[in-house]
Amino acid sequence: MATYAQVALLRPSRYLDLLYTYKIPYEANEISIGARVKINFNNRIEEGFIFSLSTENTYQGEVKPILEILPKDLWLTPELVELIKWVSEYYLCSITEALNLVSSPEKIYLPSEVLCAVVDEHRLKQKVEKSKCLKNDKALANLLKEKSGWLKNSVRVRKLIAEGLLTVIEKKLPAPPEIVLSDSQSSVYRRIVHDLGKDFVGLLHGVTGSGKTEIYLKLAGDVIKQGKQVLFLLPEIGITTQMVARVKKYFPDHTLVYHSRLNSREKFFVWHEVRQGKPVLVLGPRSAAFLPFIKLGLIILDEEHELSYKQEESPKYHVREVVYWRAKRLGVPLLLGTATPSLETYAAVLSGAIKYYRLEKRYQNRPSPKIFIVDMFKEAKEGNTGIISRTLNQKIEERLVKGEQVFLFLNRRGFAPTIMCRSCGYFYRCPDCDVAVTYHKEEKNFQCHYCGKKIVATRKCPVCQENSLDLYGYGTERVEEELQRLYQARILRVDYDTMKGKDSYEKIILAMKRKEVDILVGTQMLAKGFDFPDLTLVGVLNADQSLNLPDFRAGERSFNLLTQVAGRAGRGIVPGEVVIQTFNPENYVLKAVKDGNYQQYALKELFNRKLAGYPPFNKIFRIIIAGRDEQLILEGAKCFADLLKFNSERLKANIEIIGPASAPYYKLKRNYRYHILIKGNKGNIAREVLKNVVLEFKTTSFYSKLTLALDLSPQIF
Ligand code: ADP
Ligand code: ZN
Repeated sequence: MATYAQVALLRPSRYLDLLYTYKIPYEANEISIGARVKINFNNRIEEGFIFSLSTENTYQGEVKPILEILPKDLWLTPELVELIKWVSEYYLCSITEALNLVSSPEKIYLPSEVLCAVVDEHRLKQKVEKSKCLKNDKALANLLKEKSGWLKNSVRVRKLIAEGLLTVIEKKLPAPPEIVLSDSQSSVYRRIVHDLGKDFVGLLHGVTGSGKTEIYLKLAGDVIKQGKQVLFLLPEIGITTQMVARVKKYFPDHTLVYHSRLNSREKFFVWHEVRQGKPVLVLGPRSAAFLPFIKLGLIILDEEHELSYKQEESPKYHVREVVYWRAKRLGVPLLLGTATPSLETYAAVLSGAIKYYRLEKRYQNRPSPKIFIVDMFKEAKEGNTGIISRTLNQKIEERLVKGEQVFLFLNRRGFAPTIMCRSCGYFYRCPDCDVAVTYHKEEKNFQCHYCGKKIVATRKCPVCQENSLDLYGYGTERVEEELQRLYQARILRVDYDTMKGKDSYEKIILAMKRKEVDILVGTQMLAKGFDFPDLTLVGVLNADQSLNLPDFRAGERSFNLLTQVAGRAGRGIVPGEVVIQTFNPENYVLKAVKDGNYQQYALKELFNRKLAGYPPFNKIFRIIIAGRDEQLILEGAKCFADLLKFNSERLKANIEIIGPASAPYYKLKRNYRYHILIKGNKGNIAREVLKNVVLEFKTTSFYSKLTLALDLSPQIF
């Protein structure tokens, strides 16, 4: 029997990030790793979790007793404790930071009975004057009206039953429909079932609309039938009511939805069901990956390439890496799916580490859209300097005649993205950020899209004082104006500025369905997930925007984005067309998008990455050092880099240290930013070096004067 417990605190302490030793009370006859406890920490009562147990005390000072052991359904599972330790070591964050990913419920709702109640409404009405416990009890009455639910006060419920007001019966619902797969879906499904096993990792690669989701659900059904649990992860945007309804149709009694906007009671309900080992499917974004599954049978990671799977606040974890760990640790199959695999995943397919399944065609063989690339240089040479090429113009006019819908994509809101002085060449930037401001015509101001700063618009140049500031380039606001000038059409603009209302998405969907819109203009808010059957033409106004970003993943992200955008066209009966406007018509990414040839692009991109030593061939870690004092930041960054070099040599790590260099956004919100990159083919040794350096850096005078951020899985630079 262990006598001592090492406890991790739920709230960050000002002290070092440690496990603290407490004595286990004699009365505690059942305690294990993961137990949630109350302790006295620095004369405050704090909560924490037991991370390890020991028979001997290694702590020098006074050891206090654990004050209270909380109910077992609030405990972590031992596997979650291991996961938290792993996250803290892998991403170099504190245990407390990692622990906060596991949003174990805050309040205790003792699990009263979960009842499926059906009220005899007729008798309820008759007796409701007579019944004592229903009088003045609106809340309960409302709950009963809903006929089912999780009834909190079981004493009152029992009274109701005793009075004959409430009958508890088994719900008899019609049996959920069977999933019937097409031939090509079936053959993929059968191959996956054949390959499934303890170390199974598979990739289902198929264009949007090819029927991947039906395959996931068929596999999920098998798992639930075996009494096991399914974790089904979607990017944030994917948790639509549509998707939830689709899953619930097949598993009405086994579907749970989990995300960070649930209230603590709802969160606890999911937590509790999962912790009890109920055979459920949990649908959710990345936060759902930290639930206490005890009978997990399958993990599905849909849209595995999505950037929203990476958390950009500390701990900066990537959920793909987290589910890899859990799948491996629990011996559970992991299925990834996407239309545009990340190069990390595709490289693993090529190496044989991940099994590969391809769905070539859209469901029911709907044709993929035909893609045209338009050279905007040629267009300009021939006299058209507008934002709409002649090809696109002609196709828009055709659609307007036929009464079909058009989507024009431009990933830039506002009116004009560049404000420059015609007489002295001054380029208008945000005073707090090293970023160009955008002119917003409706609001009549210059806006910084990073910090949100708004400056009253003016023509007067702050440098030469002439009234000669001019606007250059296009944002969605300007495109909308241009379209109104060019066409007799109903135009709807959709971007951050027009989407502030809560039901904005629903309104757009409705307006499109009712055909109240001819041309939709929008940013990437509209690139994903939407399904408008009468939309037959997509125009990408400026494909170069994402291609030219200073990031080695610019090509990959452009391919994904353009493929997504193109996929909005022709989802109904009429086949779609896509026009991509660019100044780089020869670019291999665009060519591959045009040909719908993922492999052609991926192999070329992998070849380039290999030459440059970028992921997936090498690990890259990124250290960002930021603060108000430009000189101090630079010195601090240099000191950090020197420590890296020194420790790398000492540990013979054979890693490359790049920088410090000014970060791509050198100044944001008045903070100057330098970054250092570490490149190496062995993550563990590079991590070891970095860990040492952080400890040493904390003892320098710089540490308290700047912010240090570590990103061990950087996705955006
Ligand atoms: P993906 O997940 O690859 O984007 P979906 O599974 O959403 O594709 O399928 C696209 C559309 O085709 C959906 O509307 C879906 O309802 C329909 N569909 C796919 N497979 C089937 C099937 N086996 N039976 C009936 N409808 C299907
Ligand atoms: Zn700014």
